[in-house]
Amino acid sequence: MNIVLLGPPMTGKGTQAEFISKHFKLVHLSTGDMFRDLANEQDSLGLKAKEYWSKGNLVPDELTIELFKKELKKDKYKNGFVLDGFPRTLNQAKELKKIAKINHVINIVSTDESIIKRTILRKTCSNCKKIYGLNIQPKKKDICDICGGKLMQRVDDNEETIRHRLKVYRENTNPIEEFYAQEKILINIDGDQLPEEVFDDVRNSLE
Ligand code: AMP
Repeated sequence: MNIVLLGPPMTGKGTQAEFISKHFKLVHLSTGDMFRDLANEQDSLGLKAKEYWSKGNLVPDELTIELFKKELKKDKYKNGFVLDGFPRTLNQAKELKKIAKINHVINIVSTDESIIKRTILRKTCSNCKKIYGLNIQPKKKDICDICGGKLMQRVDDNEETIRHRLKVYRENTNPIEEFYAQEKILINIDGDQLPEEVFDDVRNSLE
């Protein structure tokens, strides 16, 4: 089973992707993580991509699609995957359709104001990428419960950047929702609930 997760930044997409990946034994591919990892590795295309994402702009399609296709070719995705952050443009959705069959698209729906509130509280483990925030606090301040890694705030997690990212998201993603609605694989889920409640809805709709 191959799944696409849609939803504005900060709707808990990453958390739901972790839940889905564990429950349905699917490999989680986050293009945001992919970009951050490539930039950390000083990869030349990864550094080029950082010029865009660090300002809250989408990485251009040409560059994104090249890096994404290279990643998805890896063997680990053969038995099913959950995509988190891809596609983000209609063009990407069309390219994806050419290389993989998508069974379901989970669309997490939320309002801008609740998204902005959550953004300011989000931290991610610099080592294992576990996400903490409003509903999941670490036992020790700024230390990951799972691996002991240091929790970091992302450079693009501030109010000004999130407002811009939301605008960018709405402009680009509405056509993707329509695309998948027409394919009859779009499932809308209320994102303004606790993460476990959101996942209950996701699981019920997939099973
Ligand atoms: P995320 O971790 O999903 O919020 O992604 C962080 C940033 O990476 C986004 O704000 C974009 O700038 C960039 N990004 C991630 N996925 C894509 C994509 N599919 N297309 C273009 N840019 C992307």
